[in-house]
Amino acid sequence: MSNPAMSDDLSVSLEGIHKFFGKVHALRGVDLRIGRGEVCVAIGPSGSGKSTLLRCINQLEEISAGRVRINGELQGYVERNGRLHELSPRQIDKQRRLTGMVFQRFNLFPHKTALQNVTEGPIQVRRIARAEANRRGKELLDRVGLADLADRYPNQLSGGQQQRVAIARALAMDPEVMLFDEPTSALDPELVGEVLDVIKDLARSGMTMMLVTHEIGFAREVGDHLVFMDHGMIVEEGVPKEMLENPKSTRTKAFLSKVL
Ligand code: ADP
Ligand code: MG
Repeated sequence: MSNPAMSDDLSVSLEGIHKFFGKVHALRGVDLRIGRGEVCVAIGPSGSGKSTLLRCINQLEEISAGRVRINGELQGYVERNGRLHELSPRQIDKQRRLTGMVFQRFNLFPHKTALQNVTEGPIQVRRIARAEANRRGKELLDRVGLADLADRYPNQLSGGQQQRVAIARALAMDPEVMLFDEPTSALDPELVGEVLDVIKDLARSGMTMMLVTHEIGFAREVGDHLVFMDHGMIVEEGVPKEMLENPKSTRTKAFLSKVL
């Protein structure tokens, strides 16, 4: 195909993404491609636009300019006669299921058990029969190492366990791409490893993902592609090991010297 953004092996393609919050120009022309099965890790100082970028990919934020495509499908708009027309909220909701998002804060439903948290979306949104949703939910809890804790409520789980439930919950919607926004930043240090292990397993299973993290060692080990953001732009990107050992931009060097 002549347009590489439409090629079959691209899961996510971003072209010229801008985002304004009033006068704040949070994203200033971001281009990024994530191949199918690829793990893209974004690092960068606070306020550089990492969360905003993830939120634009899954349409939690409306972009101010540019194109977001997932599996080649334009997000938020339909192109007709060379012009863009906004999709309806219902169509946007449907597209948002292409991505599973895991936040720094786990945001579980407090009055639902681990299993109910995982099955809620499939039952309510995907209209999957309860028995089938439960079967799949247990499978997913097993996958994140929580098979025995399916009936616990969030306040009976550690932060690391809650975050693993949140990952299982996102997976239950069968997303094409998983987006992680600092998934371990709110955890006590001794709980970080168990969550990173689950993410690592997911990466090995071939899940396409974009991960914002301050865990540079993890980025190096698991990432296929590393992106350094500053002031709403991708300043440098490349293979993690090479970029971390030999950053080219002075801004990347300055950032890494603070976090490594
Ligand atoms: P990061 O995740 O890299 O710390 P963010 O994407 O959260 O950065 O923020 C990028 C910039 O956009 C910051 O200047 C932030 O203050 C601004 N911003 C983010 N969300 C909003 C919002 N909802 N309203 C106004 N400004 C925002
Ligand atoms: Mg952020």
